Amino acid sequence: MTFEEIKNDEQGYMMHTYGRFQTALVSGKGATAKDVSGREYIDFTSGIGVNSLGYCDEGWVKAVTLQANTIQHISNLYYSPLQTEVSKKLCALTGMDKVFLCNSGAEANECAIKIARKYSFDKYGQGRQKILTLKNSFHGRTVTTLAATGQDVFHNFFFPFTEGFDYVTANDIDDLNTTVCDDVCAVFIELIQGEGGVMPLTQEFVDAAAKLCKEKDILLMIDEVQTGVSRTGTFYCFEQYGIEPDVITSAKGLGGGLPIGACLCNKKLADVMTAGTHGTTFGGNPIACAAAKEVLSRVAAKEFLDEVCKKGDYIREKLSSMANVKEVRGKGLMIGIVTEKDNAKEIAAKCVENGLLILTAKNLLRLLPPLNISYEEIDKGLTILENVMSV
Ligand SMILES: *Cc1c(COP(=O)(O)O)cnc(C)c1O
Repeated sequence: MTFEEIKNDEQGYMMHTYGRFQTALVSGKGATAKDVSGREYIDFTSGIGVNSLGYCDEGWVKAVTLQANTIQHISNLYYSPLQTEVSKKLCALTGMDKVFLCNSGAEANECAIKIARKYSFDKYGQGRQKILTLKNSFHGRTVTTLAATGQDVFHNFFFPFTEGFDYVTANDIDDLNTTVCDDVCAVFIELIQGEGGVMPLTQEFVDAAAKLCKEKDILLMIDEVQTGVSRTGTFYCFEQYGIEPDVITSAKGLGGGLPIGACLCNKKLADVMTAGTHGTTFGGNPIACAAAKEVLSRVAAKEFLDEVCKKGDYIREKLSSMANVKEVRGKGLMIGIVTEKDNAKEIAAKCVENGLLILTAKNLLRLLPPLNISYEEIDKGLTILENVMSV
């Protein structure tokens, strides 16, 4: 099939929920993808931060195929040692105490929201159920995580949204202190707003939020769906802020390309969710867990994390001398580029035409390359970007 045929067929049968780039990707290796005509692209997106180890990594493929050949699914009515292994590793890496496994970022966030409300209900009774999130945040596409998402453009069409969210301006400590009230049970934040334009929170704001939460027995919940799993140069981004979250949510890069999400909670919350209060059919699926186990065995090692930081610095350095680059933001291999000409969407589309996959977020260019991308692929990709940026 040609690209045009694929495109026309899609238009006939699929809901038009995505504004897609004009290519159909069919295979890949490392940080290089191939389209239906056999054309190659350097991939600075890893499927929006999902393919942590790139396309078809040898160890990852081995782990996944072995598991597919062993047992592909069991119901959560039965014990699964593989789920426990993944959970144990996540706890060891974070100091958290318990894990709920699910299939996506939105689901991990739904679990966090339920934990916050039940913790508060169990301890304080009804009426203390409000969750503070940040303006410009993104927490998912379910009706409740859309409500949690602090952007008016997402609060449309699907009324009524879930009640009980209020929004604080990121990095505005005064706004935080005036918005908090007696019915707040949790503060739920991304440390670097991803979809919001690769916007890091300031240390002062995060410290203020952590202090407020401690004083008032408000849960500090961190959405690490995009920042997590070594993306920002530490296993989770919260480590760089020196805080102790009560809840962490994770997904995207966790399975290296298979759908798995996780909601982690600390010891204080270990017994909040009881039998029958939450569940999922697919969550903790054995093949997804085998994939996550492989990812976790690789990306959390100190040498691996050092490489993520080095590659991030290398890319940032090269970007800073490119035409049309106004500002470079982010940490590790989560990188946002503000362009002089405010033409990120145009640049991203042109990059595809020239053999480079790159993301946007708001009016920024956004890079989320595979964590193990080679310097050769980085250089190839940056050369394409530089050429596109200079015209
Ligand atoms: C992508 C994202 C989500 C939603 O994850 P899905 O797997 O698409 O449900 C939630 N929070 C953040 C910060 C994200 O980047």
